[in-house]
Amino acid sequence: MKVPFLDLKAQYASIKDEIDDAIRQVIDSCAFAGGPFVERFEQEFAHFCGIEHAVGVGSGTEALWLALTVLGVGSGDEVITVPNTFIATAEAIWFCGAKPVFVDIDKQTYTMDANLLGKAINEKTKAIIPVHIFGQPCDMDAITDIARENGLYVIEDACQAHGAEYKKRKAGTIGDMGCFSFYPGKNLGAYGEAGAVVCNENEYAIKLRMLRDHGQDKKYDHQLIGWNARMDGIQAAILSVKLKHLPEWNALRRKCAGVYNHLLSDVKGIITPVTANYAKHVFHIYAIRVKNRNKMLKAFANRDVSAGIHYPIPLHLQDAFTKLSNGNGSQPIAEQCAEEFLSLPIYPELTEYQIDQVVRSIKEIS
Ligand SMILES: *Cc1c(COP(=O)(O)O)cnc(C)c1O
Repeated sequence: MKVPFLDLKAQYASIKDEIDDAIRQVIDSCAFAGGPFVERFEQEFAHFCGIEHAVGVGSGTEALWLALTVLGVGSGDEVITVPNTFIATAEAIWFCGAKPVFVDIDKQTYTMDANLLGKAINEKTKAIIPVHIFGQPCDMDAITDIARENGLYVIEDACQAHGAEYKKRKAGTIGDMGCFSFYPGKNLGAYGEAGAVVCNENEYAIKLRMLRDHGQDKKYDHQLIGWNARMDGIQAAILSVKLKHLPEWNALRRKCAGVYNHLLSDVKGIITPVTANYAKHVFHIYAIRVKNRNKMLKAFANRDVSAGIHYPIPLHLQDAFTKLSNGNGSQPIAEQCAEEFLSLPIYPELTEYQIDQVVRSIKEIS
């Protein structure tokens, strides 16, 4: 039996009528770019997060870029983030004109090691972007304490952490702003591209709404130089449908992770993910660490199991960013993890039988 890495078809099948109806409503009312369906989703998502404002944008990358822009991050500034993230985190910093500075991760949680922040901060540092990687929240108290002491903004990259919690607070609501991606494969995914910024500060929300719509608050009255970063109406309507299912879907992901943890607990040479004691993990990715990854990938292929690697090359070693970093050896934990990470299939529709298939392939060669 095939075990895909992700099964968006199975998810669609489970909510087909609701989705089809939602799309038809948008088409009937021709509210395609921005508009009432986006406003409704923004309210629902803000409520879900327990925060004042959610501003829908075109992608997670745009969410990060606009959040930095609103905070005035620009040329000559430095922004600290981690090397084990999707490249968008650092691209957004770069496209504001600022310089990404990398700090290494904790070897248990795989999130930003707050103990290393002190050394990375200087007079140019303007903000920190912790990344709730794989759906595990960062140690936000430690990070926000250091940010406050140094007068720095905190923007959470919550693109993999919809519904995750840090000490009972939703990921994305703890720093100055939180950024989400609704790329189709994310825990809350659109049927195309979409993203959002969440915040409590009124002024930030007002500015975000202007910037995403060519800097205007009234049609053709442009107070700022902005961009077209609006959310699409059809995506918003789909997200409204899917948001209702998110808590249940996240619980199912946690259940799958529990089954994997249990079945892999006695397999030698495999490190399974650790949930921090402050965290409610939402397992966007379930990454184990192994020494014989290539061999394992072959065993998976033999059994029709699809796995992933998140991410094979840390950002400081990407050709696009080498001029920014001290190269190989400068981020030892992130580098070691990049060599060992292996992401197993995880999604709400994954069955115990499929998990068993995956685990059999692993045991075959362990
Ligand atoms: C997906 C993702 C992004 C970018 O989101 P897009 O919607 O694809 O632009 C940014 N950061 C992280 C950690 C992500 O996983």
